Amino acid sequence: MKAVIPAAQDAVQAITSAVSIDGASWGRADKAKWPHNVTALLVFVAPTWMYINWLALEHYDASLLEAGRALFLQGPVQLMKHHFPQPTFAAFVGYAAWLGLQTALYGLLPGKHCFGQRTPGGHLLEYTANGLLAWAVTHGLYLAAAVTGMLDPAIMAKHWQGLFVAANLYGVVLAVLAQVKGYWCPSYPADRKMSGSWIFDFWAGVELNPRLGDYWDFKFFHNGRPGIVAWTLIDLSWTAYQYQNLGHIATSMCIVLLFHTIYVVDFFLNEDWYTRTIDITHDHFGFMLAWGDTTFLPAFYTLQAQYLARYPAYLSTAQSATVLVLGIGGYAIFRIANHQKDYVRSRNGNAILWDRPATFIRCNYRTSDGKEHSSILLTSGWWAVSRHSNYLGDLILAFAMCAACGVNHVLPWSYFFYMTVLLCHRVWRDEHRCHIKYGKKWEEYCAKVPYRIMPGVW
Ligand code: NDP
Repeated sequence: MKAVIPAAQDAVQAITSAVSIDGASWGRADKAKWPHNVTALLVFVAPTWMYINWLALEHYDASLLEAGRALFLQGPVQLMKHHFPQPTFAAFVGYAAWLGLQTALYGLLPGKHCFGQRTPGGHLLEYTANGLLAWAVTHGLYLAAAVTGMLDPAIMAKHWQGLFVAANLYGVVLAVLAQVKGYWCPSYPADRKMSGSWIFDFWAGVELNPRLGDYWDFKFFHNGRPGIVAWTLIDLSWTAYQYQNLGHIATSMCIVLLFHTIYVVDFFLNEDWYTRTIDITHDHFGFMLAWGDTTFLPAFYTLQAQYLARYPAYLSTAQSATVLVLGIGGYAIFRIANHQKDYVRSRNGNAILWDRPATFIRCNYRTSDGKEHSSILLTSGWWAVSRHSNYLGDLILAFAMCAACGVNHVLPWSYFFYMTVLLCHRVWRDEHRCHIKYGKKWEEYCAKVPYRIMPGVW
């Protein structure tokens, strides 16, 4: 049972942080320095970026260059006066119904009980992984309503502008609520971080795992449900939009839909594993995840489908086959690497990988309650190829998703560029954290597996 302590107690509670065997903190930064504050400016940059994407698709034939030029020539105020996404009552109602449905499915559907990674404060949190069922029920309802004529399958595409506004508003309100909750009634005080910078705390979050009651987890819910369930649903809606406008569905759209569906279904099939990834184990719940899950993810990860619905790419058979082989190959590396890590750790190292006993480095770390724990760093399978071979697979798949859109515009390639920056930055911050957490053992691991992502390159 977790303790929810009142605000008065919080005010005098010292910020605790998990420390490595050498005594250094390995949780999120205790004190914001200037680079943290610069990063936090993404609170303004990220929504502006999403606006420019919307603008380019809606008003400038998907040309980021033309949208940028209009911004420069007209200035932001004039441009926004002419072209700003408008709220609609129907979209607000639809969005509220969508959140209600996802909340009900999250709370009511049965699922496997699983545990995350031990937090810096020493907690081991329980989750109910019922996402696959929620995804299937949601898509089943959507398809049934579309087939029976109760719902226009292109409804989300046609109300995209209003939905974009509703999602943005919800994301911002959620981020503010998360901040207030973090200050006044944190779920797990030992895992809360206040860095001394309001803007950084707002961006990166105060609480690691905010919850309502024992089980309603803000992060787990918002990433999976309004975020990832929406991904393929929005794709389907833009596919229907393409069909209604062109009378056919282009192969490129089918390939994008296939890749996205594989990625999403994979996520839910392995939802238990997700509770032990960086999003859940390390990132706090602030604007980055609140607005990111509810607005950035549905708007940005579906960009290829939004683009193709209006500007279909027609690939030759050879091009389609190449893209498919690349994407499926990337996915295979991504999945196998992620599985190997989880599998070997769950068996405490007693496992066979690629027909040989798994090799690993045993290491210790300490949580803020002073207790020492043991862990392992895998040094065989894909984890001997590079220290983040799972990122390599993800990047290859991201490249294939974008390649399916052709080379006429930069906009649908944004996902690949973004993933490259995101994952390279992750390597940097994750390795920094692991170094502090495991000390000399991490150095030993780096010496054994010298490359970060791409063997022979970096
Ligand atoms: P990982 O699943 O790779 O987790 C990194 C953690 O694994 C480290 O912090 C460390 O944690 C542990 N670890 C590091 N090296 C080893 C090793 N050799 N053996 C065992 N454990 C090790 O990273 P992410 O959580 O970032 O990503 C998970 C997946 O999600 C990736 O495939 C990534 O590509 C994908 N992803 C996708 C995104 C998207 O938007 N599409 C965004 C981000 C990620 P510990 O403290 O437990 O030791």
